[in-house]
Amino acid sequence: MSRTPIIAGNWKMFKTIAEAKEFAMVVTNELQGVTGADMVVCAPFTALAALRDALTGSNLLLGAQNVHFAEEGAYTGEISPRMLTELGVRYVIIGHSERRAYFNETDETVNKKVHASLKHSLIPIICVGEDLDQREAGQTFTIVEEQTRAAIAGVAANQAAELVIAYEPIWAIGTGKSSTAQDANEVIGHIRKTLAHILDQETANRIRIQYGGSVKPDNIGEFLAQTEIDGALVGGASLVPDSYVGLVRGA
Ligand code: PEP
Repeated sequence: MSRTPIIAGNWKMFKTIAEAKEFAMVVTNELQGVTGADMVVCAPFTALAALRDALTGSNLLLGAQNVHFAEEGAYTGEISPRMLTELGVRYVIIGHSERRAYFNETDETVNKKVHASLKHSLIPIICVGEDLDQREAGQTFTIVEEQTRAAIAGVAANQAAELVIAYEPIWAIGTGKSSTAQDANEVIGHIRKTLAHILDQETANRIRIQYGGSVKPDNIGEFLAQTEIDGALVGGASLVPDSYVGLVRGA
């Protein structure tokens, strides 16, 4: 089963509107006509409208970094799925380890957000991954399996096929330490097995699973060469236009 690789930049809390427009100008120009991978930029909410305009007519797709699960309501400071689709957002990162660690994101809220996003035609990029203690205790497979099961509980197979999962070992995020490509491939293979148990083998074969954690232009090729790895979710190296272009070219 061939799956289109997906390279997604996670800008986190970086870039003003002006900086986002500048990035788009350079990158859309450089990547004009490039095919073979879905290229996504997950920007802060404040930059989404400007970025949508700047990316119109290009082959780059717009993503957000979080979403609330309610349709609307008294949730000060939150953004609903409908607000994102109205802005032209196609992908949304859900359950990033920084949101789990600092903003009380739980497996339960991740699952609610996945359902709400799919209902509004947003494609979730669901993050799973173990921390260093869990890795050293040999719990990696158990953790990713539990997080995956919880995230997609109640999602029908036909909808699940659209999902993207990002395996991000927490100890590798923003640290400069990446997992080895073989190691990441093994964990991602386990996630796919889990998906086959929950859903069915055919659907599991269609779901794209990325690796994330200190991916750079010079190491992305190793990861993408692995049989189970369908792309990368990239923080730091996605912020600089040349480096984003390098990630796509290296993939
Ligand atoms: C991330 O934020 O999802 C990430 C993988 O960050 P970095 O590439 O900087 O490790």
